[in-house]
Amino acid sequence: MLNFCVGPVMSSAEVLEVGGQQIPYFRTPEFSKVMLENEKLVLNFAHAPKDARVVFLTGSGSAAMEAAVMNTLSQEDKAIVVNGGSFGARFEKLLEIHKIPHDTIRLEAGHALRREHLEPYDGKGYTAFLINVDETSTGILYDMDLVAEFAKRNGWFVIADTVSAFLTDPFDMEKWGVGVMLTGSQKALACAPGISLLVLAKSALERIDRIDPACMYLNLKDALVNMERGQTPFTPAVGTLLQIHARLKQIERDGGAEEEVRKAARMAAYFRSKIAGLPFETFAETPANGVTSLRVKEGYDAYKLFEAIKDHYGIWICPNGGALKNTVFRIGHMGDLHEKDYDVLVDALKDALEHGYGKE
Ligand SMILES: *Cc1c(COP(=O)(O)O)cnc(C)c1O
Repeated sequence: MLNFCVGPVMSSAEVLEVGGQQIPYFRTPEFSKVMLENEKLVLNFAHAPKDARVVFLTGSGSAAMEAAVMNTLSQEDKAIVVNGGSFGARFEKLLEIHKIPHDTIRLEAGHALRREHLEPYDGKGYTAFLINVDETSTGILYDMDLVAEFAKRNGWFVIADTVSAFLTDPFDMEKWGVGVMLTGSQKALACAPGISLLVLAKSALERIDRIDPACMYLNLKDALVNMERGQTPFTPAVGTLLQIHARLKQIERDGGAEEEVRKAARMAAYFRSKIAGLPFETFAETPANGVTSLRVKEGYDAYKLFEAIKDHYGIWICPNGGALKNTVFRIGHMGDLHEKDYDVLVDALKDALEHGYGKE
């Protein structure tokens, strides 16, 4: 199988092997040790500030998004949310459901966040800022230096969704003063789905202490107490956590988060250079390393191309949903993918186009 989707992605042989094992009982010192090592490695790779802590939730990335909103924001907040695609829309929906007062910076799909989008909120008493660092639905990477500049000046509590940005683009929680960073197991972590995690800075821990969410399963107070000894309140996706352990150790051994980021950048550049001349154009103004989103030229249908590549070549590229379904598709640069895999993909794309597949 060759999978260029943006999650789940291709896992390494080592991670796959862990996935093939029986699942052990987990209320043990051995499993606690695994969890505490996972925490330590994540803190390191995220450049978390001193005193930051990690919790692992059983649930996909959206569970961590919801947990962040419920446990660190309240009706006393006045939040700003960036909505430039379906994951920004998800944050906005969560703020609505949990009745957090907020305003939305609505960006056209694929467009960058600029100073002029933030200026109207400067010095206006806002308290929190939510952003998907890589808005995976369009492949746009937002400018976190710019966000951090405004956030620091205004004291905004920043919630950064790095589900597809962690380990693919540089992320420095301390430098950017981020309060919550969150990610999931099936994107650049390249494990089975099922686990999401939150890295919580001191500012987040203080908020969690103060706020009582009307929810048992996603209550981070309980999760934090349990995590002091490397445990979780409820049975976690043990198998996925063991895969994450193998993967984090592998990253550590291979040169750390920076090396992962370099690899994603290299894969993205390689693929982007190889498709010159094909009837596609880059869709995102400032593309993330984790994903290339491509708009098909006149006469082509992105969804039909996705189907043709799946049916005739057994390769998964990533279709888009909603308004972009027929015009945009995505190619991931996360997980265990190499130059030779992109060679196979580009040959398949060329062959498909020659056969007239993917025409409107
Ligand atoms: C994948 C993703 C999520 C979470 O999606 P799940 O399907 O819940 O794992 C959240 N934010 C971004 C930016 C993502 O790419």
